[in-house]
Amino acid sequence: MKISRFRLLIILYLVIFGVNMPFLCTANSDDSVVLLYHDISEVDNLGNSQMTISRDNFYAHMRYLNDNYNIISIGEYYGNLLNSGKAPHNAVMLTFDDGYESFYTYAYPILKELDIPATIFLVTDTIGTENHLTWNQIKELCSSGIITIGNHTKSHCDLENIEDNQYFQELIESKNVIEENTQKQCKFISYPYGNINDGVIEFLHQNGYSAGFMLAEEFNIESECFAHKRYMIDGLTVAEDLRKVIEFAKSGENIMKYDFINNKHVDSDDAILLFDLIMNDSSLEIDIDKNNKTDYFDSIFLLKRLLLT
Ligand SMILES: [Zn+2]
Repeated sequence: MKISRFRLLIILYLVIFGVNMPFLCTANSDDSVVLLYHDISEVDNLGNSQMTISRDNFYAHMRYLNDNYNIISIGEYYGNLLNSGKAPHNAVMLTFDDGYESFYTYAYPILKELDIPATIFLVTDTIGTENHLTWNQIKELCSSGIITIGNHTKSHCDLENIEDNQYFQELIESKNVIEENTQKQCKFISYPYGNINDGVIEFLHQNGYSAGFMLAEEFNIESECFAHKRYMIDGLTVAEDLRKVIEFAKSGENIMKYDFINNKHVDSDDAILLFDLIMNDSSLEIDIDKNNKTDYFDSIFLLKRLLLT
């Protein structure tokens, strides 16, 4: 078969650059990793360490990331992707979901001290409720210049299974409330439970959103601007482990298929075997209902811990 020189050049280009054409908004360019935190506690809280990190450990994380990585704001992250398809070398972006008050109490003073930018994704129904940020605190964070506010829906609903009549409340009304209170555009969203579908993405695209953030698990959707992966950091992760997590994240592989101990990917059969082993280990007292999101995340968490330690 004869291939023209032009076609050969295109094939070579695609082989070298893959599908990451510079003019496209690509999901997580090679060098950027988005990390996800939730709650921060004053003391070590090993009982709920999947979602909570202690203040001291968080401080160690921030110092480690500040010393070793280029921590960028969501504005830089998005701008870089749009303009050149490439983030700065070793770029890391920080996100915090659910709008816990602990962000204001423990994380914000640390971020301010080290001048680290971060993004909080708010659930508007919970603002001002127990353990959650108030509008006054949110306004103060907003005026700091290092914190960006994004939406995490009105009620923390599952966007994969949302009814048509909920779109407005969950995605527009909540966006409007944030914009009115912060006097800033709210154009970024993170999906509760990491769940999303193509219909919602189309709606977001047409209604003033620029980018959407999910979790690291594979999701079969077409959009790239609305499918940025994030890596959840739990409270048991020590600062020195972050390098492993970030390297893993850059590899783009499914966490279920990664062996942190030997720093290599395991084939899918081994991963499934390992997963089954954990699920069926009665000493671990796990009873997983795969349709139950909390159970599912608990199982991923357990597996990750087993691989990390
Ligand atoms: Zn959430």
